[in-house]
Parts: sequence; structure tokens; C-alpha cells
Amino acid sequence: MQKTLALQITDLKKTYSSGTDALKWITFDIEKGDFFALLGPNGAGKSTTIGVISWLINKTSGRVIIGWHDLDTAGAEARLWVGVVPQEFNFGIFEKVYDIVLAQAGYYGISPEVAKPNVEKYLRALGLWEKRNAASRTLSGGMKRRLMIARALVHNPELLILDEPTAGVDLELRHGMYEFLRELNKSGVTIILTTHYLEEAESLCRNIAIIDQGIIVKYGPIRTLLASMEDEVVTVELDREYVGKNLDKYTPVFDMQSADLTVSSNHSLDQAIQILQEEEYQIKSIKPKSGRLEEFFLKSTAK
Ligand code: ADP
Repeated sequence: MQKTLALQITDLKKTYSSGTDALKWITFDIEKGDFFALLGPNGAGKSTTIGVISWLINKTSGRVIIGWHDLDTAGAEARLWVGVVPQEFNFGIFEKVYDIVLAQAGYYGISPEVAKPNVEKYLRALGLWEKRNAASRTLSGGMKRRLMIARALVHNPELLILDEPTAGVDLELRHGMYEFLRELNKSGVTIILTTHYLEEAESLCRNIAIIDQGIIVKYGPIRTLLASMEDEVVTVELDREYVGKNLDKYTPVFDMQSADLTVSSNHSLDQAIQILQEEEYQIKSIKPKSGRLEEFFLKSTAK
């Protein structure tokens, strides 16, 4: 059965008037219902890509199809499909929370009567209902970010795009936001995010594209991409400090009773466990070292 696509980008290019080739070759598809991350170092072209999809930046060439609407021939329809949460807060600081979200519905031609239930739904879902009459400038950074999300959702878009959604949001609230986004995704909304927190992509997203210097360098299911990594670093916690030489082939890094071992097809974790057991060490825990995606990302974009 053919998959329904929420987004198709083919050979997208963008040269700014300054002459910067921000996007040189961007081609990827996103299935409807996906949770997708666009990763890449600063200046890679993530915001430019998002800007083109959300109609804020004119592309130089290439094709962008949102749902079944081509941006070149059905831009207005395509726009209705998309909700965007940009990086910068861009609402009036004296405006009230409720009015900001309601006014956005107006931009999409939705009457206040029709929009009001949705305004309430999303302000409640994002924990902002109590603040509905507050001026936006009185909100914390995390609340402002959530206000931007409520505003982006008020017209019920099929595709929600978030540019660095947890920038400036503290850890506790970040998890609340993850839960909200997971639920939203389960309800059928396709989500794309860009992030610097690579663990964020690892915990939320099914598919990723890594972009570097305006080119998609890796693209696919996050699990497959991680599994294709040649080496993996595993942290082994022992009952006492390791003394010996038999683990040297794992290029170990010791810290008190724990050891980071680099395992690969040649030097398997099973063999390492066997060595430790033969040497009568007790293994208290074995964990993949966090930040695998980070490692992968650095390898993928290494010059
Ligand atoms: P990212 O979001 O991955 O950090 P951007 O898309 O913001 O990357 O930037 C990609 C490249 O385009 C960078 O070299 C950046 O300096 C350049 N760029 C971004 N915006 C503009 C602009 N308005 N005018 C000229 N160059 C720009």
C-alpha cells in the first residue's frame, strides 16, 4: 500500500541575496503521522528549510509538496496544513495570551465563534488557561514557548513544525512538553522539530534527517541509523576498580568502578563480560553510554 506523505521536498535550493548557498541539496519525504527531527550543526540550513516549508522564505528552486498541495501552485492551501513554532518569540508583549491565540485563527479566516473552543482546548492542554488574561510579557520563557505552540495549533494543522522547541525551557517543563507533543502525534498530527538536544530527537522521533552545509547527509529511521554505527560505547559498572590489561582492546576509559568500553563486531560485549567474569569481577550494571546520537551526528558531519 502506498504511504500517505505529509511532506515531500525534492532538490530544494536556496541562495540568499548575499550570495550564501544556504541549501544546496535537500531531498526528503515525511510520512503522515511521523515524528521527524531535522538535525545539524549551527548554520547547517535547518531554519532556512523550515522557513521555506512555512512560507516565510522564498526558495531559489526545487519542489515542496505539503499534503498534496504544491507550494508553487497551491500555496494558500499548503499553508493551511502547516502550524509553525519559530525560534524567536514574535507576539506583541502587551497582548493578552487569549487574544494572541484567537487572532491567529483570524489570519486563517476562522471566525471567533468557531475558533474559541480550540483556543480554550489548547490553552488548557498547554497549562496556560489560568494565564489567559495575562499580558504575554509577564509569562516565563517556558510559558511563552507553550503559547507559541497553542497559537500554531489553533487552526488544527496536519503538520506542526517546531524550531528548537525546548530552547529556554527548564528540564521539568521540558518533559511536560514532550508528553504533550507525543499525545498530539498519537492523535495524528505529523511533527517535525529541529533540535540541538540530540537526546530529545532520540527519545521523541522515529525518523531523522541530518543536514550539514545545506546538504542532507543522512536520512532514515533513527534506530537503523544508530544500529549502523560501527562502534558503540557501553558503560560497565563493577564491584571494584578494574586492574588488569585484558580489556585494553576495548580502549577502556575508567572512572572509579565504572569503565566505558568501545564494543564492535570484532570486540563484542559478550567477550568483555566473559573476561570480567573469568577475572571474578561482579558486573553491577551495563548501559549504553548516553548521547549515541551525538556521536553519530559528529561522525556524519565530520569534515
Ligand atoms: P541553521 O538553522 O541550521 O542554524 P540557517 O538556515 O539559519 O542554519 O542558516 C544557513 C546558512 O544561511 C548560514 O550560513 C547562515 O549564515 C545563512 N543565512 C541564514 N539566514 C540568512 C539571511 N537572511 N541572509 C543571508 N544568509 C543567511
